[in-house]
Amino acid sequence: MTVDLEKIYERLGSIARDVLNYALSIVEPGMPILELCERIEGRIRQHGAKPAFPANISINEIAAHYTATISDKSTIPKDSIVKIDIGAHIDGYIVDTAVTVTFNPMYNQLIKASMKALEAAQLSMKPGVTLSSVGLQVERAIRSFGFKPIKNLSGHLIRRYELHAGKSIPNYDNGDRQRINEGEVYAVEPFSTNGVGIVDDGSQVTIYRLIKSPRTKDPYYEVLSYINSEIGPLPFTPRWLVHRFGDNINNVINELYLKGYIYGYPVLIEHGKGLVAQVEDTFIITRDGAVPVVNVLSLLK
Ligand code: MN
Ligand code: MN
Repeated sequence: MTVDLEKIYERLGSIARDVLNYALSIVEPGMPILELCERIEGRIRQHGAKPAFPANISINEIAAHYTATISDKSTIPKDSIVKIDIGAHIDGYIVDTAVTVTFNPMYNQLIKASMKALEAAQLSMKPGVTLSSVGLQVERAIRSFGFKPIKNLSGHLIRRYELHAGKSIPNYDNGDRQRINEGEVYAVEPFSTNGVGIVDDGSQVTIYRLIKSPRTKDPYYEVLSYINSEIGPLPFTPRWLVHRFGDNINNVINELYLKGYIYGYPVLIEHGKGLVAQVEDTFIITRDGAVPVVNVLSLLK
């Protein structure tokens, strides 16, 4: 790895740590989710980075992929368990990290299970180790708390401007014999649940991504080319386009999504309506093992 990449990741790590600490300090029952998302994303920008994707605030049985809509009226419910998943990038170099908070002490063990699983994954990751063997460690840790890992969610290899760059770190032993290599960057995100351990696509879509270079004959070419130049191939929310295109952008984005010009990520919901916890860090694989970019576990202790 070049010296520059190390420096960028050092900076991304300190930004992400600050943003997560900030989010943890302001989140509380009754807070509008729109306000939480905007303050998190604003804090990332204040640091001179860009959000690598919209702040994901996923509550209770929602496992992932919810961000506030333009005129979102929802608030953090009392007694809830809340996943705060943030991404920041500098020149396409991405850090992806998440914490879970709860306002009901009964759910603390669920969070502990994800933390233990992340720790187990970190200890097992080194060059030459198979992806499935990391998954086995994640599953064992979560099951030792009496919970289940979510099998159809996984960590992922990260490359420049590529959040999910092919290889996955499963949350169970899925038999993937591909190996981890020195110099790779992985996001690892154990999801634990007291439900059945599978997520389904919900009907709502709040996060989108450009999937092809805009052509002048495309509908709403101006919108597509703005996304292409300002956001690129990373996920976005219509909220980021309002200042330029007005509130009607929501309908425009929905139309582009339905016509296949952009990809949409459905909200992911636990199949048994179980509660879900997630803890995520980004790791750089060195000869000696996995180095956490954020050290998210230290924020939760
Ligand atoms: Mn994430
Ligand atoms: Mn991730």
